[in-house]
Amino acid sequence: MNSFRARLDQLNAKARGRRWIYVPYDQLSDGIGPLAREQPGDAGIVLIESSWKGERRPYHKQKLGLILANQRHFALEQAKRGVAVRYQTTDRPYPEALERVAGELGSLRMMEPAERELRVDLQRLVDDGVLEQLDHEGWLTTTEQFEASQKSGPPWRMDAFYRHLRRETGILMEDGKPVGGKYSFDAENRERWDGDPPAPEAPTFPVDEIKEEVADLIRSRFDHHPGTLELDSLPATAKDAEQLWEWAKQHCLASFGPYEDAMSVRSSGLFHTRVSALLNLHRLLPARIVDEVLALDIPLPSKEGFVRQVLGWREFVRHVHRATDGFRQLPDGEMPVGETPGDGGYERWSGERWPASEQVDHLDGGAEPSALESRQPLPAAFWGETSGLRCLDHVVADVWASGYGHHITRLMVLSNIATLIDTSPRELTDWFWAAYADAYDWVVEPNVLGMGSFALGELMTTKPYVSGAAYINRMSDYCAGCEFDPKTDCPITNLYWAFLARHKKQLDDNPRLRLPLANLSRRDKKRRRHDAEVFRWVRDTLNDAETLSPADAPSEPD
Ligand SMILES: Cc1cc2nc3c(=O)[nH]c(=O)nc-3n(C[C@H](O)[C@H](O)[C@H](O)COP(=O)(O)OP(=O)(O)OC[C@H]3O[C@@H](n4cnc5c(N)ncnc54)[C@H](O)[C@@H]3O)c2cc1C
Ligand code: SF4
Repeated sequence: MNSFRARLDQLNAKARGRRWIYVPYDQLSDGIGPLAREQPGDAGIVLIESSWKGERRPYHKQKLGLILANQRHFALEQAKRGVAVRYQTTDRPYPEALERVAGELGSLRMMEPAERELRVDLQRLVDDGVLEQLDHEGWLTTTEQFEASQKSGPPWRMDAFYRHLRRETGILMEDGKPVGGKYSFDAENRERWDGDPPAPEAPTFPVDEIKEEVADLIRSRFDHHPGTLELDSLPATAKDAEQLWEWAKQHCLASFGPYEDAMSVRSSGLFHTRVSALLNLHRLLPARIVDEVLALDIPLPSKEGFVRQVLGWREFVRHVHRATDGFRQLPDGEMPVGETPGDGGYERWSGERWPASEQVDHLDGGAEPSALESRQPLPAAFWGETSGLRCLDHVVADVWASGYGHHITRLMVLSNIATLIDTSPRELTDWFWAAYADAYDWVVEPNVLGMGSFALGELMTTKPYVSGAAYINRMSDYCAGCEFDPKTDCPITNLYWAFLARHKKQLDDNPRLRLPLANLSRRDKKRRRHDAEVFRWVRDTLNDAETLSPADAPSEPD
């Protein structure tokens, strides 16, 4: 903290006569909101660094590093522009620190927080007039646009939302028709990656004394948190954010579309842009990203595919989260809510109670929907114990090394396997929230509860995203080094059939599952019994934190 404080004191302008704004940790931009409109010499910003927040979950060290280093650099960048900066550290919740600061500086303006949990924390101050809440200007779409796109209300569908936006904004439209003749090129974007074109190396960023101090803080204060802190892969300054985005434009976006669903041990991101963590902190602004991609000279399937992610999926999930109050209020009624914040299985794996549990006794554990009534604990393999399933072990190791993984690894490896063994969707969500550097409630809850685990049924997706080994083998090179063979004895295929059999009643009406369920009914009885045995073997072995090996598998039917 010493260098940071010294530099801030040196740069900081006089606080008197400023109009003050509270900038939450994920609104680090002077391109939106009141800070964009004030002259630097008239504005003051309050930033709060709360170790209480950091302790709330077993967050990956890289995520803590990312948020703290970005917030500190943002403070310095703003002070350099002439904005007065009040940088407050605390080990208490935000409202306590903000109330004290407001007592001194007067009421503060703030854009509405993106995170539900921060909105809830600060509601009292908004009600008391300590905080004047303004619209969040980082979003690309409005509630009205979301509602207008979903004519018949829930279930909500992303493709209807996206088509509505394209028509309304004219993005990628020509004479009222989608450019290229269709709204989505997803069907063409499903190529396996065999090394050509070469995947870009993930970018690295300079390590400076601010980052070093954040690393010291993490070592001294948050050392019990999981994951590895890698300073040189951590973008922290406005310049780093520019560098990341230039890298994405130059090296990723042209090939983004075709390899969007591919996975490889040789590259954790392939042609994915790695911008989510900075988009979610507003170090990169979504509007700018979309505009610049539209202006790029790249193949249409890549351009459309990327725009759909940011304009479509990213906005859609936050609307659904908002419309359901974080899935507490569903069209069918209220969802049960956990009594205490979950730790994603940390305690079961580490044998130690998550320390924050004592500090957060007034907080709840989030909505607990489970359309498939899945209640199994999340296996310790997700915390780094070897499962023997190479795809899972590889993706988990990558996540704990970097706090990052691309969409298909999250969906078709992690969520797929967890769902196939009936893992509690809430526990899986809490794990994702802790493990990924880009996770916040508005984005992680819909993605895991809605897409990854089918906990919300057909509320926002049309079917559960589950598959056997054939899909993983087709889209990745994971299977080559695995003890199991995707074509003969991989247990994921048995898990898939056993899943369909166990949940047949719940899935029977789903038109998109008609074919797999018809195939299931044609599956030989002995095979189905074997599938169920393999399911029990995998579930119990992973629950005991042991390793699966072909030698221990239930024997195949004759
Ligand atoms: C189970 C599961 C959990 C996820 N958890 C998160 C999360 O905690 N935080 C998060 O930002 N994304 C999450 N996603 C969405 C997506 O996987 C990540 O945004 C993406 O992998 C980030 O990597 P990237 O920046 O290289 O993405 P790219 O593939 O380069 O995509 C570009 C951008 O599109 C946006 N985007 C794409 N898909 C989604 C989506 N489904 N929801 C929201 N934004 C999307 C992201 O901002 C991303 O940066 C999750 C997806 C799944 C299936
Ligand atoms: S063989 Fe099965 S467990 Fe092994 S990597 Fe392939 S899909 Fe995963």
